[in-house]
Amino acid sequence: MRQFTASQRDSAIRRGLAFIYNTACEPANFYSYGSAYLCCFYCISATSRDSELRRVARAMGRERARLWRREYGEVSRNAEAEDVADLVFGSDAADRMGVRDDVLKKRLQRIAARFSSRDFLFFDPSTEPPPKDMPMECGCGEHNPRGRKICQRCRTSLTMMSAYEVWSSALTTSYTGQQYGVRLGASYTDVLNWLPVMRPYPNPPKHGDSSDFYWAIYAVTHVVYTLNDYSAYKLSPSWLPDEYAFLKRNLTEAIKMADPEALGEFLDSLKSFGLVESHPLIRKGMNYLLSSQNGDGSWGDADAEDIYERFHSTWTGIDGLREYSWRGERLSFQRLKPLLGGWAR
Ligand SMILES: [Zn+2]
Repeated sequence: MRQFTASQRDSAIRRGLAFIYNTACEPANFYSYGSAYLCCFYCISATSRDSELRRVARAMGRERARLWRREYGEVSRNAEAEDVADLVFGSDAADRMGVRDDVLKKRLQRIAARFSSRDFLFFDPSTEPPPKDMPMECGCGEHNPRGRKICQRCRTSLTMMSAYEVWSSALTTSYTGQQYGVRLGASYTDVLNWLPVMRPYPNPPKHGDSSDFYWAIYAVTHVVYTLNDYSAYKLSPSWLPDEYAFLKRNLTEAIKMADPEALGEFLDSLKSFGLVESHPLIRKGMNYLLSSQNGDGSWGDADAEDIYERFHSTWTGIDGLREYSWRGERLSFQRLKPLLGGWAR
């Protein structure tokens, strides 16, 4: 198999990071996705093995975080649950990069308590599994309540979100809230508790609707990220045998789908499980990423209209390629180990 050099990898990562920073400096992009940009800079600065990459990402992140605090770091009186969660993500990343605001945290704690788990997560994890009857946003822009099949505004028939998508998003929301200190609808353990119900993960369908398979990829990688503190720790495959097997079995599927976004997530998750860079699967995935980078340093669909799609694919491309400074083998919440052990049997 073709071998890439360390300098090819480093230069691809740097071009990717420059693309992300340049798009973050466009006011319209930063207005819409400032929090996600901060999370990206923080993650790269916190867990990369390359000290120069850490330094550059942190400088970019701190510069953007100060601007974010000035321009967007306020809760408006009519904030919805979604706005509160977004502020929690952004403020957590800014705090971790040393740009703190404890007054905002207090306010967020107070306001978050006004909303229910359904407001934040679309379901109540303390009583029910991730639902299959949550409609996606309608083409007309309407957000319909659970259970609706026809849009209440334009009468178009609605497509349901995959339960894996709902669960994946609930994992990150509850986890980030808990780490930051603002409860976003439920505890992380309440959401993770549905893991045995979400197994077995679907295989790629030969024909027809692949949305459950597609979203199962993100559900599995977000089980990994929330348990390894976003690539800070290594995970033992014996703690999550089904998730580990799913990722190993389907990595080449992401290459077949020509999906660098999913592939990037496969790679850093499998590296966390201990697969080294000389492993054929990791080599194959990294070679694909290196050969599919766009001329402007991004990954993914260069014509996508929504900048989030372009930025996020580039972030996961970088994450798939970079080396990590693992801080040992453990869980973000060590007390969950017996729970995982029971499910692995
Ligand atoms: Zn509609």
